[in-house]
Amino acid sequence: MGAFQRCINPQCQATFDVSEVLHRCPKCGSLLDVDYEWDKLQVPSSLSHFEKYWSERSNPRRFSGVWRFHELLPFAPLEECVTVGEGQTILQRNDGVAAYVGKSAGSLFLQYEGLNPSGSFKDNGMAAGTTHGRLVGAKSAACASTGNTSASLALYCSTAKFGKSIVFIGSGKIAYGKLSQALDYGARTIQIKGDFDDAMARVQEVSKALGIYLLNSLNPFRLEGQKTIMFRVLEALRWEVPDWIVVPGGNLGNSSAFGKAFIELHKLGLIKKVPRLAVVNAAGADSLYRLYNEEGLRWNGGNIDKAKIDAFYSQMDKENRRASTIASAIEINRPVNLTKCLRALDFCDGVVRKVSEQEILDAKAQIGANGFGCEPASAASVAGAKQLVAEGVIGKDERIACVLTGHQLKDPNATVAYHGNDREFYEKILGTRGVKTTEFANRPIVVDNDVDRILDLLK
Ligand SMILES: *Cc1c(COP(=O)(O)O)cnc(C)c1O
Ligand SMILES: [Zn+2]
Repeated sequence: MGAFQRCINPQCQATFDVSEVLHRCPKCGSLLDVDYEWDKLQVPSSLSHFEKYWSERSNPRRFSGVWRFHELLPFAPLEECVTVGEGQTILQRNDGVAAYVGKSAGSLFLQYEGLNPSGSFKDNGMAAGTTHGRLVGAKSAACASTGNTSASLALYCSTAKFGKSIVFIGSGKIAYGKLSQALDYGARTIQIKGDFDDAMARVQEVSKALGIYLLNSLNPFRLEGQKTIMFRVLEALRWEVPDWIVVPGGNLGNSSAFGKAFIELHKLGLIKKVPRLAVVNAAGADSLYRLYNEEGLRWNGGNIDKAKIDAFYSQMDKENRRASTIASAIEINRPVNLTKCLRALDFCDGVVRKVSEQEILDAKAQIGANGFGCEPASAASVAGAKQLVAEGVIGKDERIACVLTGHQLKDPNATVAYHGNDREFYEKILGTRGVKTTEFANRPIVVDNDVDRILDLLK
């Protein structure tokens, strides 16, 4: 077939068949990539090759925003790929948000992944992950999740014809929009008394013990699907590479997948220029930020300073530091894809920033006011871009694509707390998080049930 799995550690590089279900390299414990024998595969000679599939949209796999790029992630036969219509997402120029972050008109684009079937970018990965699960004969699948992965897994499991999916979540740490999806789509939902990092540890143990297919972003096949987000960004720019990609960082699956996409496109001669990558943490879940900017941790040709990482985490445990942010999708202190993200940052000359709760919510309100609804985590990309423009790292006229990772309706509480009149609600949701102002709030106007009063008000 031309596809295999390969350990990302350059000192190891052990390879494994795609039919093996592995979460880490059995030899050295590093993460795994899906890799391809490109010289044995039919690789397009230019990205415009993919335009011909636009006329084949009656075939669901050509319609899919993931599988219409099948030649760039060919680990399963096209006919066997799982799709529920993911990836019909748009990149749109947004001058209002550009003005907010201090950029010139025409220079800022939003990649709106909230338009996916379950409302987040996770569907790109789940289409690929469930395809692999089916390929290896999995009968059920599991994940740990801050919410969106579970929603996506629950949705894809019925299409992939898996039995009941199992999702592990931290207690009280999940936005209702997401929880409602997992329950509605029929997943067995296990609520751990602990946070995401606890849920992540348990799901790995449980899947191992029970032989359940694991669909966290540790799963390298999921990341193959997420590469296509970048293919669509390029497609919308008529295959021109932007100057910057800005993405929120949680478990660092997306940033890792984007880096891999650009590494491969570059290697295959399909792009000449490589965009720079900005990964944005929430200040309350800033392990990558600290490790990268304060500890100077780097990919370093694959010779990552493991002792530094271990020391960082043991200090974190000693201080009992727990991730805490309104941006629940990135409320993660032990990002499983850390090493792959370092590789992406290395290849894309990347930077890492952190943004406060206030910055996240203000950016979110501005994104909303300019026609795009997103959940708090997504707004970290725009808030991060604003910082980088203010610092002069991102130029005023440089073309940037900010990824809006999830839909507005995922987490209505945060939005209503920001815009609403209910101070008590505000205090409960935001006040304890150091959010002092709601500068861009669009408050509902309270008025008597009287048409004349209402008319007076609207005149
Ligand atoms: C999962 C998720 C993230 C974090 O992405 P990673 O790949 O884990 O870094 C950000 N935003 C939303 C809406 C998500 O669902
Ligand atoms: Zn290895």
